[in-house]
Amino acid sequence: MKIAMIGTGYVGLVSGVCFSDFGHDVVCVDMDPAKIEMLKRGEVPIFEPGLDTLMAKNVAAGRLTFTTDLEEAVQGVEAVFIAVGTPTRRGDGHADLTYVMAAAEQVARALTGYAVIVTKSTVPVGTNRQVKQAVRKANPALDFDVASNPEFLREGAAIDDFMKPDRVVLGVQSDRADEIMREVYRPLFLRDFPIVTTDLESAEMIKYAANAFLATKITFINEIAALCELTGADVKQVSKGIGLDGRIGNKFLHAGPGYGGSCFPKDTKALARIGQEHGLPMQITETVIKVNEEIKDRMIQKLLDLVEGSFNGKIVVVLGVTFKPNTDDMRASPALKIVPAMIGGGAKVRVVDPQGRHEGESQLPGVQWAEDAYKAAQNADLIVILTQWNEFRALDLKKIAKKMNTPKLADLRNIYSERDAKKAGFEAYVSVGRRDYF
Ligand code: NAD
Repeated sequence: MKIAMIGTGYVGLVSGVCFSDFGHDVVCVDMDPAKIEMLKRGEVPIFEPGLDTLMAKNVAAGRLTFTTDLEEAVQGVEAVFIAVGTPTRRGDGHADLTYVMAAAEQVARALTGYAVIVTKSTVPVGTNRQVKQAVRKANPALDFDVASNPEFLREGAAIDDFMKPDRVVLGVQSDRADEIMREVYRPLFLRDFPIVTTDLESAEMIKYAANAFLATKITFINEIAALCELTGADVKQVSKGIGLDGRIGNKFLHAGPGYGGSCFPKDTKALARIGQEHGLPMQITETVIKVNEEIKDRMIQKLLDLVEGSFNGKIVVVLGVTFKPNTDDMRASPALKIVPAMIGGGAKVRVVDPQGRHEGESQLPGVQWAEDAYKAAQNADLIVILTQWNEFRALDLKKIAKKMNTPKLADLRNIYSERDAKKAGFEAYVSVGRRDYF
């Protein structure tokens, strides 16, 4: 089967590579010539574990190509996937559909025969119908169907998530589109992964409801963590105690500095906006958005308390600035609020991040980039763990504490304990949701 993938970002590239690994012929299209040039040279423009190897394998097998020429790419395809960005529109929180609609119109003008035009981007309810109208308007003679196929992969584990999904959601309107979509995902059908076939609107809603639910779960435990600190409870024990209940589940119950990333912040805002537009405010989601911002402010206050109320002149080492480990993605990372607050208060900030530097250099002006935690710790006043990269999970804390001016540790991912810090010679340690100050 021949497939075109429009947009080769985190979702489009992973999906394109995985579809080619299913055995399909895939052409990946992007309007960014620099990205396509890199891909043609065999380089992966993003950091995603395992993607380079899988991409090379399928390029070598002749099933995967890259181009900026959308018109040529869609000739003879049975399915065209739109996997372009849907960022928050400035001002009103709505998902910005400019890229999706532009891609749909380009596809419509370029297609010369039947194809299913599949929206993989996360889009508000009703968008697939808009896409259908736009395609019809741009190319009235075209025989086509639209389909909604939201993506649930997580950056950092994207290939596994794509190849072994909890479910695939297919929103379709015709048997013909349904059949083609089943063919696209045939290897997953054969291996009995759950496939949920729905109408277009339900597929669109599933994606927002899933992300809003997960954001709510994280925010709930973060709020419980704040109460743990005041009451003497330990949020790690609380998470374990509630997570073992099968109705709750143990995932997304790790307290931390608030959710970030390319999806939860924008998708919760978009869902809130959809609710407002329909005269039904999404009160839970709106509260989650507000509480998540407050959690980041609480983290800043926590750090400020550690440095006696002023960052001025302090040397702070930040371990991890990407929004989570195993990605280079900095979009809406808590670091983007916490680091500038410290710099604004007069701190000198040194950052260590295994993959974040490329993105971070433009997004975090004024920080110094260091190679590793040990070098960065020299004469520092405070270490802040913001992202739980594996590299930061087994640090020689003693070695670090020795190098510091005032050995203080803010462990905002709860990867160490008060005991670890004390044993290593730290004079102060804070974490999230545990009363373990000393
Ligand atoms: P991204 O910004 O990494 O990639 C989008 C790509 O599309 C860019 O390379 C851009 O140049 C390209 N593009 C835009 N318009 C184009 C056009 N007309 N023709 C060709 N290329 C075009 O975005 P992403 O993170 O991959 O997200 C894409 C969509 O998937 C979003 O709607 C997002 O919400 C959703 N999603 C993302 C994730 C994730 O983890 N990143 C997970 C699930 C769903």
